[in-house]
Amino acid sequence: MTNPQYTCLECGYDMHDRQGGDPCPECNTPLDIRKDDPVANRKTLISLIVMILAIVVMPFAGTLSALLTLYAHHTVRKRHSLISEYRQSSKTRSRRRLIQYLTYIWFILIIIMLIVEQSWPGVFNWW
Ligand SMILES: [Zn+2]
Repeated sequence: MTNPQYTCLECGYDMHDRQGGDPCPECNTPLDIRKDDPVANRKTLISLIVMILAIVVMPFAGTLSALLTLYAHHTVRKRHSLISEYRQSSKTRSRRRLIQYLTYIWFILIIIMLIVEQSWPGVFNWW
């Protein structure tokens, strides 16, 4: 049985025969044997769903979409300061990265929509 705490956070290499701080033989990342942060795990999942929702509702409800994006981003940032006691599982980290990408996409979409709105006024009635 493999303890998830003894797998490399970056590449998933099994490091059960190593000690905390030992570098991963595959990618040289030091082994982090702290427990996964259970709150961050749940919160990043919620934020990811909220962020997807923000993109979906954007054409119909611009203000709501902006609020959802702010919420998703705020949650992700707040957890960064609580990094000491727990480690951030690879799931949490990849979700966080995904939320970041979605935020960029959200911004690009907003800009595209503003340009379209300028060219064809009244296409989206969300202000
Ligand atoms: Zn590794």
